[in-house]
Amino acid sequence: MAKQEDLFKNVVSHAKEYGFIFQSSEIYDGLSAVYDYAQNGVELKKNIRDYWWKSMVQMHENIVGLDSAIFMHPTTWKASGHVDAFNDPLIDNKDSKKRYRADVLIEDYAEKLNQKAQKEIEKARARFGEAFNEQEFVTTNARVMEYLGKKKEILERMARSLETENLADVKALIEELEIADPETGSKNWTEVRQFNLMFGTKLGASADSAMDLYLRPETAQGIFVNFLNVQKTGRMKIPFGIAQTGKAFRNEIVARQFIFRMREFEQMEMQFFVRPGEEMKYYEYWKNTRLNWHLSLGLGKENYRFHDHEKLAHYANAAADIEFNFPFGFKELEGIHSRTDFDLKAHEQFSGKKMQYFDTELNQNYTPYVVETSVGLDRMFLAVFSNSLKEETLEDGSTRTVLQLPSVLAPTKAAVLPLVKKDGLPEVARQIIEDLKWDFNVAYDEKDAVGRRYRRQDALGTPFCITVDHQTLEDQTVTIRHRDSMQQDRVKIEELRSIINSEVSMRNWLMKM
Ligand code: ATP
Repeated sequence: MAKQEDLFKNVVSHAKEYGFIFQSSEIYDGLSAVYDYAQNGVELKKNIRDYWWKSMVQMHENIVGLDSAIFMHPTTWKASGHVDAFNDPLIDNKDSKKRYRADVLIEDYAEKLNQKAQKEIEKARARFGEAFNEQEFVTTNARVMEYLGKKKEILERMARSLETENLADVKALIEELEIADPETGSKNWTEVRQFNLMFGTKLGASADSAMDLYLRPETAQGIFVNFLNVQKTGRMKIPFGIAQTGKAFRNEIVARQFIFRMREFEQMEMQFFVRPGEEMKYYEYWKNTRLNWHLSLGLGKENYRFHDHEKLAHYANAAADIEFNFPFGFKELEGIHSRTDFDLKAHEQFSGKKMQYFDTELNQNYTPYVVETSVGLDRMFLAVFSNSLKEETLEDGSTRTVLQLPSVLAPTKAAVLPLVKKDGLPEVARQIIEDLKWDFNVAYDEKDAVGRRYRRQDALGTPFCITVDHQTLEDQTVTIRHRDSMQQDRVKIEELRSIINSEVSMRNWLMKM
């Protein structure tokens, strides 16, 4: 655990030191759970967004993009259910005065039971070796059955209580399980209360005519209210999707995990409109397709898992998370939700405008069902960044810090380094940059010894360093150094573009899906 905490601390400090992420308004001591993306962070974030957009929008004939406004008519949020139901159950500890999400305290307890069961399973696997049958062990071993049974029972009871708004029972559960404040160990809890996560603001100048607005807590509703506009003007035929990326805002109760849980964050969402009754087929399809998109980045299959929801949101008939192994354990990275026809029907009812589709094949009008994929761009950033940050011991015993980002996402694709600052080498390096910058984000660096420059680029995640030396002047060759293997090859300047391209092109990465 201590090691994990150290790793997470390294992630946060590396992100700051190398110009990826700063605390917002730092000179005023920052604003809690709000962050700014710095010169390198903004490039990495943009590359993740582009990688998503390419795969979701441009590679699908039947998915189109949208960029709807953050401000929406306030009735939108009545219709969507957010005004009445976008709440988190909060609980305060009377001694420490710390505030927690009651559901998260219970889920963490359940996860501990799960870990105990997994430990037993691993022990048995080691004992029985090849002959081990996990399925049989899990269904017959008394201890494992007890851990997993208890976990299930707890989560089901919580889901029931939250669904029926029985907050007293949520508190009773916390007390029965003897859950203590994770920071202080105190079990002196207040009642559980519901807390709405939407930020309110006002539109208009004078106090009497001002209109109460919300900052959108998800981008999805901008898609739903534009459903017919896009369908008609784009002559879209079901099944089809509308995708958008953009800011969303939530007044999170507990926001202590860097960019994992922010109050202002960015989502990448796609709503896929299907015939009623076909939603489960597409739900499965999108679960797999989205997992494959994540896997294409090569962060390791073992770092992902599905988590099927026991407690469904008011609009869903099936929901699963793709969880990622963050430095603080497996947590939600993306949600895949079968949202039924809830949203379109609600908007039809509240606006009085028909939100139906005429299916020419069936010769029939209906309200489409919706399957949503929703991933947090900042959580993707954290997943990629934390997984890529490595401390390596080299053959000569020295260490290096390297950010092994998937090269398709790296902020800078190549750094061009003149070996010395004279003899015409900088001029040649600049010429190389002039040529490469049309295709790639490239950097020039002439300060310090070349070894130190390599290390600086390693820490920034730059896949290639190109060094111009005296031989370059004679034969138009340079050395190209690979970030991960540190191998150096002598190549012709004219080959550089194709070497870099074959490593960083989205085409080659997305082909792996
Ligand atoms: P959680 O259970 O972690 O609060 P959620 O289930 O409320 O998340 P959704 O409403 O499904 O999240 O939102 C879709 C995605 O948006 C999430 O999978 C996550 O990646 C991202 N997201 C949600 N809330 C935040 C936040 N406060 N900060 C950063 N990303 C977020």
